[in-house]
Amino acid sequence: MIYQGNGLSAQLLDDGIVELCFDSKGSVNALNIATLEEYKSAIIAIGECIDAKGVVVTSAKSTFIVGADITEFTELFKTPDDKIAGVFKNSSDIFDMFEDLNMPTIAAINGFALGGGCEVTLVCDYRVADTTASVGLPEVKLGLIPGFGGTVRLPRVIGIDNALEWMTGGKPYKAAKALEFGAVDAVVAPENLKSAAIEMLKDAIAGKFDWQAKRQEKLEPVALTPIEHAMSFNTAKGMIFAKAGKHYPAPMILANLLEESVKLDRTQAMLLENAAFGQVAKTDACAAQVGLFLSDQVVKGKAKKAAKIATKKVERAAVLGAGIMGGGIAYQSAYKGTPIVMKDINNAALDLGLNTAAGILTKSVDKGRMTAKKMAQTLNNITPTLTYDSIKDVDIVVEAVVENPNVKAAVLKEVEANVSDDAIITSNTSTISIDLLAQSIEKPERFCGMHFFNPVNKMPLVEVIRGKDTSDETVAAVVAYAAKMGKSPIVVNDCPGFYINRVLFPYFSGFAQLVLEGANYEKVDKVMEKQFGWPMGPAYLLDVVGIDTADHCTDVMAAGFPTRMAKISNDPSSVLYNEKLLGQKTGSGFYEYSKDKRGRPQKAVNAKALELFSPICAAETEFTNDEIIARVMIPLVNETVRCLEEGVVATAAEADMGLIYGLGFPPFRGGPIRYLETVGLEAFIETADKYAHLGEIYQVTDGLREMAASGKSYFN
Ligand code: NAD
Repeated sequence: MIYQGNGLSAQLLDDGIVELCFDSKGSVNALNIATLEEYKSAIIAIGECIDAKGVVVTSAKSTFIVGADITEFTELFKTPDDKIAGVFKNSSDIFDMFEDLNMPTIAAINGFALGGGCEVTLVCDYRVADTTASVGLPEVKLGLIPGFGGTVRLPRVIGIDNALEWMTGGKPYKAAKALEFGAVDAVVAPENLKSAAIEMLKDAIAGKFDWQAKRQEKLEPVALTPIEHAMSFNTAKGMIFAKAGKHYPAPMILANLLEESVKLDRTQAMLLENAAFGQVAKTDACAAQVGLFLSDQVVKGKAKKAAKIATKKVERAAVLGAGIMGGGIAYQSAYKGTPIVMKDINNAALDLGLNTAAGILTKSVDKGRMTAKKMAQTLNNITPTLTYDSIKDVDIVVEAVVENPNVKAAVLKEVEANVSDDAIITSNTSTISIDLLAQSIEKPERFCGMHFFNPVNKMPLVEVIRGKDTSDETVAAVVAYAAKMGKSPIVVNDCPGFYINRVLFPYFSGFAQLVLEGANYEKVDKVMEKQFGWPMGPAYLLDVVGIDTADHCTDVMAAGFPTRMAKISNDPSSVLYNEKLLGQKTGSGFYEYSKDKRGRPQKAVNAKALELFSPICAAETEFTNDEIIARVMIPLVNETVRCLEEGVVATAAEADMGLIYGLGFPPFRGGPIRYLETVGLEAFIETADKYAHLGEIYQVTDGLREMAASGKSYFN
């Protein structure tokens, strides 16, 4: 053994071949600070080993190296950019040391070699992948750029245009594709990987391949004429900006970096990468995207834990109601492999539910995303019925009948009388209290809310709503079932609006007040979409949700929080509701909806709405973009903080992911709490205090003031 560490070892095999094998203590190899230090020690030991003639880099795990351990870098990213650049210079020096070993080197890639894992392969002279391999540099997905020399080496290995495509897109590439790009030199069957790599290495040692020349290409500037250089970057930069947009700076920082660094040798290019890494790590988008990744891990981790501890496993399900939601729930369960009975009270509704599922499936097949066989299997997994007979042996029931407390109460009673003693019962209600519905259930511990979002097949969030009597086993089983359906479940406590609607309606309320004060709602939408980054501004979202649904929900929130969320008199949405202008579903709300000559949907400000608002709203008044953002976002953030303080949602990570999954909160802002911390608690409070006279929704909690004073973070 030449070197033995905790996460890797270097061993001398026959014929002077050294195997540098990554084998961390965990289930996968990830590059953390300790492993990087061991990597350095191993490289020094190999360099000093007089018998060593070549190095093969392998992984003892089923996957090569999944990337850097980002959790270790978050504290570093809070330090100044030159400090970050310095730390990354130390790391990239280690990679350079490997590249400078005085012998040929080869990576044997199995499974994922992503980010830092891919960079470990790029310092090798050759790369052999097996057919399971996927390689790529996905750092932009975290708002970052490669930091271990990837920006220097990839353009020199696969060319500038390809490298830009790889690094600004952040996609992983399967072995065969990577071979086409020249990112790997050969693809072999998994059982032949190590032997094939060693054979190639022996050929290089024997001088059959000119490994020195191959290595030299990575050390020099990329050979391009000024015209070729200008053409590559002019076209690419335009496309990259158009695709990434102003909210995601990393791809453009990367393109600007490469524009300079490809003209330089490795040493100088690496210094530019180190500096650019320091710059990108300090952007708000990076903090938010890294935070988002970590929060997503929290949500996924909780779902995994639930699946482990759930005593009741869901193998068969039932959904009651074959409407918009029931049809979607049936599709999703069936598609992800849990057979589901779909019950309604009439055949026409059942046909509609089945057609919903068939429609989604047909689209997937037409687009080549699904085989006809998988479509048939999915449809076979749905059993339509008009009677309760076939729900007797299901493990879970999702009630998704009309939103009427009396109908739901009656249906839940019938359900309990027809299912087994240990079956779980859930409701997809969007506004009715889970504790109220639980009164219709004899064993309320087996009951909770399971709130899906429309359209079910596309929206990732499921709110799992715990009532006061819901048992932990029930919550665990429902979380596990939601995850099995491919959804991201977040457990929340029962309260009016649950979590998502509870924070959304104060936002709508802030919007209503702005419109009453004379704000132009089309401008408000534009600011919230283009500047803040929401997929839809508040007026458009209200139209899509349905003005009737929103009006009903406003009543529920007002009843639940009579002072803070009292219904505003002359709320523009209520005015539209009274005139039956219900939004997209009626073709007319804040906007008018039509189709152009090619059948593409169009929307334009609704003159009728303006006419209706004119007597109730102040004369058109100019609000700055910052005012607009503050007026609608402060109520949403304040309510999110209240939900955290009251324990409606357990952690800031879940609070953030809930809004990202459920409402499309701009991911580059990381969620409402990350946004609050990016603005800064003190600064947020200062702005909110300016608007405190407008009502309780603008008034920050004492808890938030204490957090600000203590300098603590919601994420600790
Ligand atoms: P929908 O009107 O499209 O469908 C309701 C279905 O329930 C109809 O097919 C009806 O025939 C059926 N039904 C009525 N009584 C029944 C009974 N006794 N047994 C079996 N089926 C019965 O409604 P929807 O939009 O699918 O909403 C269903 C539930 O989901 C509601 O509680 C709603 O609040 C909730 N929800 C809706 C949305 C949404 O955007 N539509 C989003 C989240 C939650």
